[in-house]
Amino acid sequence: MYGSGGLNNCGGRVIFSQTGKIYDDFFVVGHPAVPVYLLDGPQPVIFDAGFTLLGELYTTEIEKILGSRAPAFCFLTHAHFDHCGAVAAFKRRYPRMEVVASRKAGEILKRPSAVERIRYLNLAAEVLVAQIGVNGTPGAHFEPFDIDRYVQEGDRVEIATGCCVEVIASPGHTWDCLSYRISDKNILLSSEAAGQPDQTGYIVTDCLADYDCYLASLQQLKALTPDVLCPGHIFVYSAEDASAYLERAQAACIDFFNLVSACAREENEDVDRIKQRIRAHEYDVNPGPKQPEPAYLINLEARIKAVLKADSMTTG
Ligand SMILES: [Zn+2]
Repeated sequence: MYGSGGLNNCGGRVIFSQTGKIYDDFFVVGHPAVPVYLLDGPQPVIFDAGFTLLGELYTTEIEKILGSRAPAFCFLTHAHFDHCGAVAAFKRRYPRMEVVASRKAGEILKRPSAVERIRYLNLAAEVLVAQIGVNGTPGAHFEPFDIDRYVQEGDRVEIATGCCVEVIASPGHTWDCLSYRISDKNILLSSEAAGQPDQTGYIVTDCLADYDCYLASLQQLKALTPDVLCPGHIFVYSAEDASAYLERAQAACIDFFNLVSACAREENEDVDRIKQRIRAHEYDVNPGPKQPEPAYLINLEARIKAVLKADSMTTG
């Protein structure tokens, strides 16, 4: 179960696996598997918007912390269903809140086919939500929304005197991925641009769009040496664990490349056979809770193809 380890604190190293206060005015709300991050301050800020059916849970927890105050901004890392699901619910509750994202995310969210897919995946997430034992709102329908402010690499959005949210383009997981750094606290919100840790400590190399871009983004994030790192799901890392995680995520990325390349040679580039082998290596051994198998297999194929494309470019 998530949170069974609670807070792992060993000699100043802290890995959080529960919701609640992480650092000063920084909180994880909802559920560790699909969280929303909240930074309180003169202009409270939230990062990402999780599942549609957890909208009520997020707003209830946000209001426990903010009382009658409302978030001024919602920064979205990317337009995946589990990162933007509850934006419409937030907008209804906080009409003056600005939704901030990349222009590419805005383009994706204007496509009816993308909206349909996000809606479908959010409805399908009811199974996972039941598994993790959270009360959601069954049948909650994802609703499209407008982006109020587009940002890009190098932008800084001032949220308090001397404190900005810095924007870092981190493509590779998807093309629309942005990471955010809260400047005065050195908190980095990477989402899956820095991979996805599972309960066993394995880090899934989540290079859905492009392997080389993913690795370059990961190296750029590692160079920031954050004091707190939020990879988007399950864990938050602080102190030396944040940099140690990024180091491991980079090693995992290179290992994944080598594993896929070796399997491709042995299996004559047969993607289905490569998928079976990688799945046995990283999915079957994961005790969960984990991504439903059909979604995992679709993503796995994209990750394998990203490696094969990068591999073919290096080998000619
Ligand atoms: Zn994602």
